[in-house]
Amino acid sequence: MWSYKLQCFECQRGFPAQEAGFRCKICGGLLEVIFDLAEKREPAWKSRQLSVWKYRELLPVEKEECIVSLAEGGTGLHHCKRLGRKLGLKKLYVKNEGENPTGSFKDRGMTVAISKARELGKKKVLCASTGNTAASLAAYSARAGMECIVLMPKGKVAGGKMLQVIMHGAKLIQVRGDFDQALEMAMELADKRREFYLMNSINPFRLEGQKTLAFEILHQLGERCPDVVLLPVGNGGNISAAWKGFSEFQQLKIVRDRPRMMGIQAEKAAPIARAVKSRQSKVRPIHNPQTIATAIRIGSPASWPKVLRAIRESKGTAETVTDRQILAAQKELATLEGIFVEPASAASIAGLKKLSEDGQVDPSETVVCVTTGHGLKDPSVLERLPKSQTGYNLEITGASRLERLERVL
Ligand SMILES: *Cc1c(COP(=O)(O)O)cnc(C)c1O
Ligand SMILES: [Zn+2]
Repeated sequence: MWSYKLQCFECQRGFPAQEAGFRCKICGGLLEVIFDLAEKREPAWKSRQLSVWKYRELLPVEKEECIVSLAEGGTGLHHCKRLGRKLGLKKLYVKNEGENPTGSFKDRGMTVAISKARELGKKKVLCASTGNTAASLAAYSARAGMECIVLMPKGKVAGGKMLQVIMHGAKLIQVRGDFDQALEMAMELADKRREFYLMNSINPFRLEGQKTLAFEILHQLGERCPDVVLLPVGNGGNISAAWKGFSEFQQLKIVRDRPRMMGIQAEKAAPIARAVKSRQSKVRPIHNPQTIATAIRIGSPASWPKVLRAIRESKGTAETVTDRQILAAQKELATLEGIFVEPASAASIAGLKKLSEDGQVDPSETVVCVTTGHGLKDPSVLERLPKSQTGYNLEITGASRLERLERVL
């Protein structure tokens, strides 16, 4: 594998991977894993199936016996011709991360971070979550035989995710308040009690797993770079990780270019879009964020410095969409393409619609929308659908039942 170190995102000081926490000891900046890509290596990528661990030479886990896996990554990149025609785009692709083992992209990060935790000798893991991080961590810690504690905002987590956490035997703590407060508590606890290893996306090892999303897209497109990649943005770990992945393949000269990164947020939970649109260099938190897309209901995004850099460097942008637009996009993707995603994921489709109407995406461009989580996670959407979409009632007794059935067909 390539050699690597941890480095402060702000002041660029380096730290050895073993002793580092989650913030720079000097300036408090976020940390990131930096591989020395100038080294000459010939990884055996061609002989391995598409998956997170296909790229193990670019993942910060040394001991193969420490790897904890449920077969993550290798998700479909679906050419969406019918939806594309509707949006006036010939080359629209959906990278469907709902196909991961626990139903979201979080598994890419979790398989790497839990393997690293095992390598570092950790026994107890901890996270705050709007649902999918917790569901993923619960599954991977079960597989690793580790103790797992999750803090989730009470009453604001989708039913399917809640069920996953409980089923995998994690210790579930519901806190009154929103995600941002749950994360604060988790970080304080991890600081105070070193035996609890924090698995939120400020854990730089998680983002290393998530960057494989970009590697896969580039390999699936035949080592050609898409023009635009759209992702829903909550804490911003995923868009930062994807950008890091695209950048590493460019540095390795596997591709020449990098895509424009477009971050999509829900209108009433959009601190990043607000900062990008008003050209601010800092992201100010939003209090009491609201949206049906609970996975991106985040007012104080932990990875904001990385997100702003990804958007700026890539000449991308950020956009907002309403809950109504999100739900319409969710239905449209499912109906036209057979791909069922949760509301947060549909934000990337809704955002694309807005940006292409706006002329910010050209009809000739290759566009990849990342759909981040599976639609089955959040059955509460059923209650939000208009009556006209929820089916017919038919009395099946009586002689004329077949005629009655034919009438509604
Ligand atoms: C976690 C999550 C997001 C947001 O990802 P960030 O890395 O926090 O920006 C979006 N969609 C789904 C389904 C998620 O689970
Ligand atoms: Zn620093």
